[in-house]
Amino acid sequence: MRHIYADNAATTKMSQAAIRGMLPYLDGIYGNPSSLHSTGQTAKEALESARAVMAKGLGCDPREITFTSGGSEADNQAIRTAAWLGAKKGKKHIVSTAFEHHAVLHTLEALEKEGFEVTLLDVHGDGRITAEEVAAAIRPDTCLVTVMYANNEVGTVEPIAQIGAACREKGVLFHTDAVQAAGHLAIDVEKDHIDLLSLSAHKFHGPKGVGVLYARKGIPLQNLIYGGAQERGKRAGTENLPAIMGMAAAFEEALVNMDQRAAHVAALRDRLIDGLGQIPHSLLNGHRTERLPGNVSFCFEGIEGESLLLLLDDKGVEASSGSACTSGSLDPSHVLLALGRPHEIAHGSLRLTLSHETTVEEVDYMIDAVTQVVAYLRSISPVWRDLQSGKQNFVIQ
Ligand SMILES: *Cc1c(COP(=O)(O)O)cnc(C)c1O
Repeated sequence: MRHIYADNAATTKMSQAAIRGMLPYLDGIYGNPSSLHSTGQTAKEALESARAVMAKGLGCDPREITFTSGGSEADNQAIRTAAWLGAKKGKKHIVSTAFEHHAVLHTLEALEKEGFEVTLLDVHGDGRITAEEVAAAIRPDTCLVTVMYANNEVGTVEPIAQIGAACREKGVLFHTDAVQAAGHLAIDVEKDHIDLLSLSAHKFHGPKGVGVLYARKGIPLQNLIYGGAQERGKRAGTENLPAIMGMAAAFEEALVNMDQRAAHVAALRDRLIDGLGQIPHSLLNGHRTERLPGNVSFCFEGIEGESLLLLLDDKGVEASSGSACTSGSLDPSHVLLALGRPHEIAHGSLRLTLSHETTVEEVDYMIDAVTQVVAYLRSISPVWRDLQSGKQNFVIQ
């Protein structure tokens, strides 16, 4: 049977380069980078070489890179740092958007309970927010703006450089969750005016459980984890060297191949969008062009996303209804609701996320499979019958 993995926004397959990068540190080089003897110093040199790779890829200084256990930890630490710095100056207001990842939203919720005030901006129907809208929400007591680089569900890429410039002008720290963008889009923390940035290796064919927090020089990070003096005392715990080396290898490979892969994947994405757009009463989520090269997200009226996923899985297509974190819950995705999608259609969502290994044949197979499954589910759906008979009105024309 066919097996098509189309859930690369949830996680990616590790690349051979990442595996090769890790192997020496799983089997052979076992030192603790904090040890002063040669075994430790060999590990330390490797650690610093990985830091240099990550820094070069983001356009920053290696001293601005902190290794974390992944995107969630980096988001938590970035936001907590800005909140802590703000609170010291009596600034306890944070601006963000309603369609951030839960690593951001739930951190903000926790801070609200601790006395911070959070403004969550809605995004437009196409999943975009403008720098002007963000700037207008900034107040004299705002200590942080956090807006994601690219959305994990609907794939929209935000105008990060303009938002960064607006924050810089107003003297407010700017954090971006770049977990979906890193390794797929060119990021330059200088050009984009980013103060704090999170990324995660497993979204660009690196290992799971490792990521980076970039913090501009002069921003003292607030610890989440206390202990030893690793990571300049800002993140205690012996470094996960094999994972860090795998991340650096994956990042380097992603950067070298970025343009060519993005062109290939975007062409497949557009073919898939055109194909699925032929399905009656279907709606693309997110901006048509300002989106991640590999992201395709649709709503289909009159069906239920979970059934769609299960039947697609039977046909060998592994997809998602949105975020891996919301699957299993019956609430429609907060991202689709933030885009203004009504509940009844937000339930019928499908996300297919491609990689550079996806082929044209696979795309065509997915178009056929989704078309068939949607038609079948509608044929047995009471809602669809009501829509057909005019008892209920279509939301998607
Ligand atoms: C995957 C993801 C995260 C979480 O990263 P982990 O490394 O899995 O903790 C955060 N933000 C976005 C946008 C993501 O896609």
